[in-house]
Amino acid sequence: MGFKVKVRNVNQTIDVETGESILEAAILAGIDYPCGCQSGNCGACKSELVSGEVEMSPYSDFALLDEERDQGLVLACRAVPWGDCEIGWLEPDEVVAHARRILTCRVTKLIDETHDVRRVQLDIEDGGPFDFSAGQYASVTFGDLPARDFSMANRPGVEPLEFHVRHIDGGLVSRYVAETLKVGDTVRVEGPFGISYLRETHGGPIVAVAGSTGLAPVLSIVETALCKGLRQPILTYFGVRDERDLYLVAHLEKLASLHKNLRLETVLSEPTDATDRRTGLISSAIASDFSRTNALDGAKAYVAGPPAMVEATMEVLQSRGMRRQDCHADAFYTEAEKAAVEAAK
Ligand SMILES: Cc1cc2nc3c(=O)[nH]c(=O)nc-3n(C[C@H](O)[C@H](O)[C@H](O)COP(=O)(O)OP(=O)(O)OC[C@H]3O[C@@H](n4cnc5c(N)ncnc54)[C@H](O)[C@@H]3O)c2cc1C
Repeated sequence: MGFKVKVRNVNQTIDVETGESILEAAILAGIDYPCGCQSGNCGACKSELVSGEVEMSPYSDFALLDEERDQGLVLACRAVPWGDCEIGWLEPDEVVAHARRILTCRVTKLIDETHDVRRVQLDIEDGGPFDFSAGQYASVTFGDLPARDFSMANRPGVEPLEFHVRHIDGGLVSRYVAETLKVGDTVRVEGPFGISYLRETHGGPIVAVAGSTGLAPVLSIVETALCKGLRQPILTYFGVRDERDLYLVAHLEKLASLHKNLRLETVLSEPTDATDRRTGLISSAIASDFSRTNALDGAKAYVAGPPAMVEATMEVLQSRGMRRQDCHADAFYTEAEKAAVEAAK
């Protein structure tokens, strides 16, 4: 017993078993349906329900807002049909289609940037080439541990492949990276994933916002934009708790001195000492820099880092006139946070 679901983008009708999500059935049917986390957290499979009804299993508000739901949007990974339906995934404003790869990599360099952030540089030994767009992430497996998502910090096409990993208290994988990982180790990388990537044809201002290791995708986006010769203003906010949590600031400042369209704002939320830097929440800094309600109409944002910071920033950006479709974000949910979001629903 199941239902017929027409997937508009490929004009194909698939059978979806009772209790099965549309995304699961589509993948089984060989459709290359856009998707990311497959657990209702990232929004990569956001789709328009053209007709019919579905039941939605738990998902995060970040992935699908209530008003989007009211407008008939669903997440294909969470959507279980109640009857025959028609669905269509949203075409991104600039589609990127990179082959998903499983890479065998070797650690070539480990750089301790702060007391808890380690840059991991890798050479790709097998499974490449690894094409991705600046801002995307990969599912990375260290040793025998479970895979975790980490964003690429390097520019696409430029080796080494680099991830920034912050050691989280009680964190299984980040602790391993901080304490056990060594040069020469093998690492499995699967990807790319994610839809918060640089739109290279967009000509409006760019607001790039990084909280902590959210700097990884933001760095990739900013450097790519500069290398491609994008000339619009690029305003980069880098927020951390305290001075000791900042890293690669000298590198960013050097880029800003070489490229007149790049501006950098560092923001400390909990400084222990007196500081010349801006203080407070990154979202408040943006709110005070753009006081008019339509100041960000036509701009695009790329936001990455802790979920609370991402949500607060998205709210501020939209309150300043940035259109929802111009706000691109990756919230760094941990597995426990993903589980908590599900349990709370
Ligand atoms: C799209 C995306 C991109 C990301 N990119 C990056 C990146 O570039 N850099 C980066 O540093 N991180 C990134 N992350 C976060 C990263 O994937 C990991 O979640 C993070 O490194 C923590 O993993 P861990 O195994 O160390 O922690 P985990 O073992 O998953 O634990 C995380 C926290 O949850 C707590 N915990 C564990 N189990 C439970 C439980 N059962 N109940 C309650 N609490 C529990 C732990 O004590 C710890 O505080 C990204 C996440 C996403 C979704």
